[in-house]
Amino acid sequence: MNENVKETGGISVEIEHIFPVIKKWLYSDKEIFLREIVSNACDAVTKLKRLTSLGQVHGIEDNYRITVKADKDAKTLTVSDNGIGMTEEEVRKYICQIALSGALDFIEKYEGEDASKNGIIGHFGLGFYSAFMVSDTVEVITRSYTDAPAVRWVCSDAGQYEIFEAERDERGTDIIMHINAEGEEYLDEFKLREMLEKYCSFMPVEIYLECEKEEDEEHHDHEDGCDCEECKHEAEAPKPVNDTNPLWLKNLSDCTEEEYISFYRKVFHDWREPLFYIHINADYPLNFKGILYFPKLNHEYDSLEGQVKLYYNQVFVADNIKEVIPEYLLMLKGVLDCPELPLNVSRSYLQNSGYVAKISAHITKKVADKLNGMFNNDREAFEKLWEDIKVFAEYACLRDKKFYDRTKGSILFKLTDDRHVTLDEYLEAAKEKHENVIYYANDKVAQAQYAAMFESAGIEVMLLDRMLDNQFISMLEADRSVKFKRIDSDVAEALKGDGEVWESASLSELFKKVSGNEKLTVKFELLKDASVPAMLNVSEETRRMEDMMKMYRMDRGDMPDMPTEATLVLNSASSLIRRLADAGEESAEPIVRQIWTLALLSQRQLTAEELRGFLAQSYELLEKKVEL
Ligand code: ADP
Ligand code: MG
Repeated sequence: MNENVKETGGISVEIEHIFPVIKKWLYSDKEIFLREIVSNACDAVTKLKRLTSLGQVHGIEDNYRITVKADKDAKTLTVSDNGIGMTEEEVRKYICQIALSGALDFIEKYEGEDASKNGIIGHFGLGFYSAFMVSDTVEVITRSYTDAPAVRWVCSDAGQYEIFEAERDERGTDIIMHINAEGEEYLDEFKLREMLEKYCSFMPVEIYLECEKEEDEEHHDHEDGCDCEECKHEAEAPKPVNDTNPLWLKNLSDCTEEEYISFYRKVFHDWREPLFYIHINADYPLNFKGILYFPKLNHEYDSLEGQVKLYYNQVFVADNIKEVIPEYLLMLKGVLDCPELPLNVSRSYLQNSGYVAKISAHITKKVADKLNGMFNNDREAFEKLWEDIKVFAEYACLRDKKFYDRTKGSILFKLTDDRHVTLDEYLEAAKEKHENVIYYANDKVAQAQYAAMFESAGIEVMLLDRMLDNQFISMLEADRSVKFKRIDSDVAEALKGDGEVWESASLSELFKKVSGNEKLTVKFELLKDASVPAMLNVSEETRRMEDMMKMYRMDRGDMPDMPTEATLVLNSASSLIRRLADAGEESAEPIVRQIWTLALLSQRQLTAEELRGFLAQSYELLEKKVEL
């Protein structure tokens, strides 16, 4: 080919298939090539810095930088660094042997994991040869920091390489990728910027993106010193695309609230302020760092869309790796940098790794400690945040017994009067009147009648109106030997007045007849509140069972309504009830029907048919009774 060719060779026969594999198999995650090449450039700089700091190299100017440059006409993408560079011998050793066998190892593992498409997380560790995912030919022009002459290595995607003598003014390396036909988007400035932002935002060496200026017709001839926006913009020193010293690496005591918040906004593009955050700096042997943010949620389901970004020495690997981070923490947003993680292994390996389990446990502990700390140090502020934290906390408790055990003293419950209490505080207040029984409402409006009776009897009512609450209740019942009862499930002792319960068998019969419900039990109680003639109770067990059936039915619309086993409580203290018992059946019936429907209405929503009947009978009553 060229006179100064020093060597030609096939990389190796047995590994011929590596190129097609790299090209086709890794199709889904192609853009990681840029991360691999830029991170190599960072490594090259870091190595030289280390030699300098060890005093093994002298006279190196501290102007380390990496440039990423696209040339659309030549169809090349070049990543240049002024790091350690390579001698010819090193090119042979590192590029032709070590990098290649690394890529081979990687592909072998990948092949073994082909059952799950993403066997290897973020395709981390494929290395230098990932450049062939997007290139027909890759060139390396490199000059070592030593006196060795520069060399040029050129390799086609068929695996044939050549080594030449070369010219390069300064030490360092250019990786020139001749982008293939399918890879044209990787020459686009916007796309490159997006990829650099995703993968290289926090790499430790400044990275500059250089793209040729699109010639636009209106390109102007401004004079020197012109200060229009365009000229000012051009005059500004170019800015690196990355932040070489990310916040998570700083000492906790050196970070300000403002820095945490602006970091959050920048990384997650969320203009809202996070509720709070946790900066983790775990020493040896865990040795990982990170910041986790509790995002402000718009509604209950927002929460599922958290984002925890995993880094390996400031190099982005992937989002939301559930093998490393407990699933419930994925509701949060944050960054974790785990340089000890063996990331170029399969997901199944990570799932069974003791190290990963320890990381997970450590994060869980930190999150739990943070919640406890807020509860203990500033309860008032904690209560204000609680409704936003609640979904997360309940979910975490349900998923992780350890998290629950750690935080149970700080879990709050909202009462119908908007106060917040812990379970222990609730039980303490309940000791006299209803020991180990917790009364709750799950719909403040629909259950308002009952809530009013409980409140006036001095019984605290919890408001448990979220989807998760049902599961959470069951867990607490099992753990604490307590019983949760919705306020319409029975008549609490505290609602009952003193005195003899007066009854009327015929009135019971009439109510039963009017209800049309064979399974209805009618009984008399003497209630403190004489103004309510009747109330309907559905036992907690029956109702939970029905709720479950209803949820089940959401998928299968064909199941009939289950008849409800309910108890209608007639109030002996109500004068209306007494008068009805004394009246004849015929005149009592329309009123009995009205009372029955009102009791039903205060317990649940009426069906369309019930509502129609109720309106008709109400108008009829008005017609009869109102004399104007
Ligand atoms: P790894 O980065 O895990 O060592 P790679 O396949 O990415 O594996 O790279 C292989 C080797 O090639 C590196 O270890 C390094 O010695 C050499 N190398 C790659 N890129 C550069 C570069 N820009 N400057 C100097 N050496 C490089
Ligand atoms: Mg590498």
